[in-house]
Amino acid sequence: METLKTARLEGQELVDRARELAREKFAPRADAYDRAAAFPAEDFEDLFASGLHAAAVPKEYGGAGLGPHRGNVYTLWMMTKELAKADLSLARCWEGHANSLVILDGMADGRQKARWFEGVVSRGEKWVAWSGEPQARAPGEKVRFGTTLEKVEGGYVVEGNKVFSTSATGAQWAILLTSTAGPGGARHSSGPAEATLMMACDLSDPSITTDGSWWDPIGMRATASHLVKFERTFIPDENLIGYPGQYLLEGWQTCFIPHYAATFLGAAEAAYDFALEYVITQNKVEDPYVQHHVAQMSINVETAHLWLRHVAQLWEGDRRAEAQVAGSRARHVIEHLAEETVKHCIRACGARSLNRPSPLERIYRDLSFYVRHDNDDHILATIGKSLLGQSHDPSFYKP
Ligand SMILES: Cc1cc2nc3c(=O)[nH]c(=O)nc-3n(C[C@H](O)[C@H](O)[C@H](O)COP(=O)(O)OP(=O)(O)OC[C@H]3O[C@@H](n4cnc5c(N)ncnc54)[C@H](O)[C@@H]3O)c2cc1C
Repeated sequence: METLKTARLEGQELVDRARELAREKFAPRADAYDRAAAFPAEDFEDLFASGLHAAAVPKEYGGAGLGPHRGNVYTLWMMTKELAKADLSLARCWEGHANSLVILDGMADGRQKARWFEGVVSRGEKWVAWSGEPQARAPGEKVRFGTTLEKVEGGYVVEGNKVFSTSATGAQWAILLTSTAGPGGARHSSGPAEATLMMACDLSDPSITTDGSWWDPIGMRATASHLVKFERTFIPDENLIGYPGQYLLEGWQTCFIPHYAATFLGAAEAAYDFALEYVITQNKVEDPYVQHHVAQMSINVETAHLWLRHVAQLWEGDRRAEAQVAGSRARHVIEHLAEETVKHCIRACGARSLNRPSPLERIYRDLSFYVRHDNDDHILATIGKSLLGQSHDPSFYKP
């Protein structure tokens, strides 16, 4: 039944349904998930029941066929934006799920796709991709992060840990980005690109445990991005995705960079809507400064939309090289537009707008933390390097 429902929904219908769910169900739950730092499990059940869960599964496997290589990525980003307006943590878990499905669509073989997409479409299985293995220790941090791989007969044994493992307590499957050259995953690895392996990991394996004590951040708490331990976890060869190094050599991370910006835009739009209602309710609309703040917020939101539309058109027109560069530019611009919009909202509304149960308090914390997903200084430097013909890392902006 769900397969048929999903297949029938197209373009704007998907976005409209995401918006409706976000307003009616996800926004009212966001505060409780945030306070408990709990994975938004019920939201995902609703996404599944409403036929949205398999949006990034190709149509031939029963999904809605959205994605950068499927001629329609804008719809996916707009769905994400709608979820982010209600709850940025939910949007991050959703991004991780959708991005993993794009990876499988692009790099898994036919048998793997049939097996894994079936679980998403018929049972609502949730996916995520984990790289995070920061190597430089933060002050006060007692644990070292990182995984190592051992080749054994029929597969690999993974040993060690990862952090920033979004959806750790909610997902059934994780795509592990690991390196045969030692700890660092993909983002934090200093080894050659060819050493990077992608492996689908069944998270019900008893050798995998979640350590909930590490994750206590200022924002994005309900992403449940815990420390996850692998104690000699066996990954069979049949779960290896693509060829060694494919993720980095083909620049797959660039598909997902603008997707993060869609979440930032959700924060900006939510702040703008919040501010409008607030100043109208308080009858402050004749104040010239309030008028300035409202005007600037509206222009910021519209500019961010134009950027995302532009990048989506490049992907949808198969102008891959241009899309890859434009995605980082959009990511850079939208981070600033979103942060500025939230600041304008706070200045227009005042201190009580940051007092719970005001949702702006959570949006402010979530956005402040989530933009750290990549370092904007290095993003800008990477854009500059590409313009100046210097070698650069378009995936993780390594200096
Ligand atoms: C809410 C959230 C969820 C996430 N979920 C996931 C997920 O599900 N899967 C996943 O794979 N990743 C995920 N990440 C990505 C994860 O971002 C990174 O692993 C994490 O940001 C690294 O932590 P860090 O910024 O403290 O450390 P670092 O990576 O050590 O960076 C600290 C700072 O140092 C800079 N830096 C790094 N190296 C150098 C250098 N050599 N010279 C100078 N400066 C340097 C960085 O740019 C950064 O500004 C998530 C991030 C967030 C915020």
